Amino acid sequence: MSEKEIPARPLPEAEAALIARVDEHKDELVALLKELVAIDSRVVNLETFSDQSRIIAFVEAFMKGAGASCEQYHCPHPHAPAASGQSWPSLIAGIGARGGKRLQFCGHLDVVPFTAEGWATDPLVAVEKDGKLFGRGTADMKGGVACQMMAFKILAGAGIPLKGRLQMLFLPDEEMNGEYGSQFMVREHKAAIDSPTIISEPTGQPPIKSPAIIVGEKGHAWLKLKFLGASGHGSMPKQRSNSINKATRFVEQRSNLRLPSAKPPLSLANMLRSLLGRFSLGSLLRIARAPPAEAPDPYDKDGIGVGNFFKSTISFNQIHAGTKVNVIPSTCVMEVDIRVLPGITLQQVIDSIVDYCTDLGYVIRLPEGFRNLQREAWKERWEAFLLEHPFDVELSVISSTPGTFEDPGRPFTQLLSDAFEDVYHVKSVHFFAPGSSDAVFLRGGGISDVVLFGPTGGHTHDANEFVDIGDLVKMTKVFLLVAYRMLCKPI
Ligand SMILES: [Zn+2]
Repeated sequence: MSEKEIPARPLPEAEAALIARVDEHKDELVALLKELVAIDSRVVNLETFSDQSRIIAFVEAFMKGAGASCEQYHCPHPHAPAASGQSWPSLIAGIGARGGKRLQFCGHLDVVPFTAEGWATDPLVAVEKDGKLFGRGTADMKGGVACQMMAFKILAGAGIPLKGRLQMLFLPDEEMNGEYGSQFMVREHKAAIDSPTIISEPTGQPPIKSPAIIVGEKGHAWLKLKFLGASGHGSMPKQRSNSINKATRFVEQRSNLRLPSAKPPLSLANMLRSLLGRFSLGSLLRIARAPPAEAPDPYDKDGIGVGNFFKSTISFNQIHAGTKVNVIPSTCVMEVDIRVLPGITLQQVIDSIVDYCTDLGYVIRLPEGFRNLQREAWKERWEAFLLEHPFDVELSVISSTPGTFEDPGRPFTQLLSDAFEDVYHVKSVHFFAPGSSDAVFLRGGGISDVVLFGPTGGHTHDANEFVDIGDLVKMTKVFLLVAYRMLCKPI
């Protein structure tokens, strides 16, 4: 996909010399990423402890070798026996003086599980092919981590006095929602990480060549809905009280579900304007209409669904019911994935579900602490009402985060955009992500200037995950330029 080049601004000699060092370190950068991939750092779920001590020890040794002082922070695992010592480690490695300006690189070291199935190569042995490096975590996100580690090492080794502090925060569990990593650090050690932050998650995807700068993320509400009905013999169907029928009515009439709306932080017009700075309209339309380039799915009639960025969405993703073909099930449990724009609260989402249930004629039970509009409508007659009308559906919250957003006009984002354009020679594009990451918890904890920006890759969370090797080099240059301009140049 061709991108419009912008003329290269001549860089001052010192900057040009500094980023030229990245080219000299290219082999070392790729070797570093291969080593990170080879250390198995899979995480499974919140209940299962995954030992991340090997990978933390590896990055700590590297960062100490680069001249950093390091500190580990341990979040105890709640399901571990007290004396077992099982804990999730985060690490801060830093150089330079405290007190002045501070810049933070950040990445998670965990990867999602995999089976060998579908992989052309061993997921833990990163292999180079066609300018790409294949392996679990190459894109999400050991690639970005390796770039930031290398930028850190080059700056630390350049002998330029720092006017502030450059630090790198390594986190252990982003793929499980950051409970023992970013959430723990924000809660217990916020002062240590309160800094403008670039999280090097992959923010570029083929066919687009150059990564975007992600300034915000939608929030999520993962809800479990347990539909309750009457059991019975399958030979005597119960249209209204079969729990599966109740659940399917809920799915079927979803066009009546009015999820809360909010003004998108970046309007479609804004986003389009910035995209047109980089792409021709023709190529943009091709991207929007194209099926996923790497693995087209013949069943996929939805495509990318660009509209999903600008509104709240619901996806019905799990359903469990029944024990036997001739028995009417009394319960049907469905799990739904709702994504909301910044500014929308969990209570608003729940209100919309309650309203929808009222339309369907369902009585809904909510967890403690939430307003129930049905209950408010019935006031003091609610208890009496329930005696005659048992609950049709019980809602519980699996997890939720609010959406968060950074103003792309802030000087820090501008600094990053400029460095990007100086290295990539294309217009920077600001975007927000439909999914969430550690950025949500950092911003949610009151840390400003948190953005996502990392190398182009693909098949994240899937077989044959890869990162673009050329992009690793460019990305490292951008990180180095940002750090230099923020911490070294005379202010
Ligand atoms: Zn990630």
